[in-house]
Amino acid sequence: MIGLILSFILGLCIGSFLNVCIYRLPKEISLVKPFSFCPNCKASIKWYDNIPLLSYLILGGRCRNCKEKISFRYFLVELLTGVVFLFTYLKLGLSLVFFKYIVLFSLCVVVSFIDIDYRAIPGWICIFGILSGLVFSLVESFLFLKSQGLIGFSLSRIPLVKSFLGLFLCIGLSYFLKLMGDFFLWIWLALKKKESIEGEREALGLGDVDFLGMVGAFLGWKLGFLVFFLAPIVALVYGIYIIVFRKSHLIAYLPFLGIAVFIVSFWGEEIINLFFSL
Ligand SMILES: [Zn+2]
Repeated sequence: MIGLILSFILGLCIGSFLNVCIYRLPKEISLVKPFSFCPNCKASIKWYDNIPLLSYLILGGRCRNCKEKISFRYFLVELLTGVVFLFTYLKLGLSLVFFKYIVLFSLCVVVSFIDIDYRAIPGWICIFGILSGLVFSLVESFLFLKSQGLIGFSLSRIPLVKSFLGLFLCIGLSYFLKLMGDFFLWIWLALKKKESIEGEREALGLGDVDFLGMVGAFLGWKLGFLVFFLAPIVALVYGIYIIVFRKSHLIAYLPFLGIAVFIVSFWGEEIINLFFSL
């Protein structure tokens, strides 16, 4: 019980930090300095007004200084991260995989919301993600070799090998399909005699390719591929809504990739088994 509460609180605090990342990283403002400030009046926010969830509720969603409305998203990101951490703890307990997954899910939250705002993400976030995935695999490899001994194992079972394979295969597959998609879009635009769809000329952004490389480094190539093919299904319902009601074809894709990562992390093997048993 205490573990559940602590993981939820950890999630809220990390969520609060992720809000800072989402706001500052695209603007290239340092993450540590200055201390939290109101985007409207620039007044620095006191620690007691910076408590996840509670401060938002107590202040009624407004800045204490200028009374400007604070975006509900701050509250949402904190709650979302808290619930995700709680669920991850529930499934995995306190383990190395728990920490690996909360790092991966935190990265998903950050890139999703930046993508919603800018329809692009700073490339180095995924490079940082790829490196983190490889570091986790390195530690897992040490533990694996320690438990297995050096004799009588196949190379392909070593976590670090799986990670590198995942990285290269996922980048390879998604980049290949991006080029295919771009090609068909190019033909379609040529037939319609258009320059672009609402300013967009790419079927899949490079940010999505980097992101899938990161997922491959964390989860290996099988689950990485599954994320790639699951995300469009997750996006389908929202995509139809956007096309019918908003008369637009553009959607930020990373949130759907992020949701797919979460599903695949916990139920990926089951989905693959189910698919092959059909
Ligand atoms: Zn203010």
